[in-house]
Amino acid sequence: MVRLLEKFVRCESPSFDKGAVDRFGEIVAAEWQKRGARVEILRQAKRGNHIRAEVWDSKGRAAGQRMALGHLDTVYPLGTISTMPFRISGGRAWGPGTFDMKGGLVHALFAVDALRAAKIALRKRLVFLWNSDEEIGSDSSRDAIEAEARRSDAVFVLEPAFGRDGRLKTARKGVGTAEIIVTGRSAHAGIDPERGVNAVHELALHVARLMKMNDARRGITVQATVIGGGTVSNVVPDHARAEVDIRYARAADSASLTRKLHALRAILRGARIEVRGGISRPPLERTPQVAQLFAHAKSLMRQMGLPLGEASTGGGSDGNLTAALGIPTLDGLGAVGDGAHSPREHLLIRSMPERAALLAALLVTS
Ligand SMILES: [Zn+2]
Repeated sequence: MVRLLEKFVRCESPSFDKGAVDRFGEIVAAEWQKRGARVEILRQAKRGNHIRAEVWDSKGRAAGQRMALGHLDTVYPLGTISTMPFRISGGRAWGPGTFDMKGGLVHALFAVDALRAAKIALRKRLVFLWNSDEEIGSDSSRDAIEAEARRSDAVFVLEPAFGRDGRLKTARKGVGTAEIIVTGRSAHAGIDPERGVNAVHELALHVARLMKMNDARRGITVQATVIGGGTVSNVVPDHARAEVDIRYARAADSASLTRKLHALRAILRGARIEVRGGISRPPLERTPQVAQLFAHAKSLMRQMGLPLGEASTGGGSDGNLTAALGIPTLDGLGAVGDGAHSPREHLLIRSMPERAALLAALLVTS
């Protein structure tokens, strides 16, 4: 497993570099072909290609479908591997994408190996869908993910686990990003400031109001995260902009959040305000179906003599998309480790066979 992980990590795959993601996709596709999977490359013009691998015992009709979901891309630009090389130390595998989520991709291949070795007949079709653009919002893969999920009775997401003890993610917040653009009028800040309309002032008023949208009880967070405006210190600024990160726990809050954002109106006379963007991923809610699937996973782990916990997180994933369709979704089934999106990224090697075994069991039971 570690050898395959090393091969995967050495082939860097930043989301925005189609050539690189496609090269990595080819390597992954070849591994699936070696295992007799029917592999389809979902070609993309701008983004990297997505990979769909199908495994089942093709005598007769499959009695339904199970889906595993993961991504090929990483957040690290090409060349990161030279300053952050793949290495093993302290029982951990370090390197870009080990934890998020090339480890998970390795688990899936070994899960299928294990099912084959144990001669377990596959009554349901197993579909493994690996997209190329999860880290940048899954715009080019969303349709394919949703179509595949609709055909499935459960979706297993191989994103990193939560915490050192490998908890699954049974709730994720919905996510949005908005941009607020303010236009004012410039003037000399000393001679005739009254002729200007201060865009930074206007924006500051809105940021203060946005903070009031935070509602801890409902799991709503609205945070102005990037802000800019003005030109030089003695000019009343005629432009300012802010990016706003939005998170919410309940699908029911999506519409009112969108409405509130787009209801922002200029406060200072002469200022103009424009709001772009909004909600992009719905929340993964811990529905009774999700809870039931987790309870099943927990019982499978217990049979292996291992504990399994669950957690909720403010971060989104493609599991949000499948859960929003009402398909029971279990997320965080991938690697156990830490340091995603940072130079400290690593996974715990001893957890690899355990997680692969859990995935294998989930794919053919419940
Ligand atoms: Zn990820």
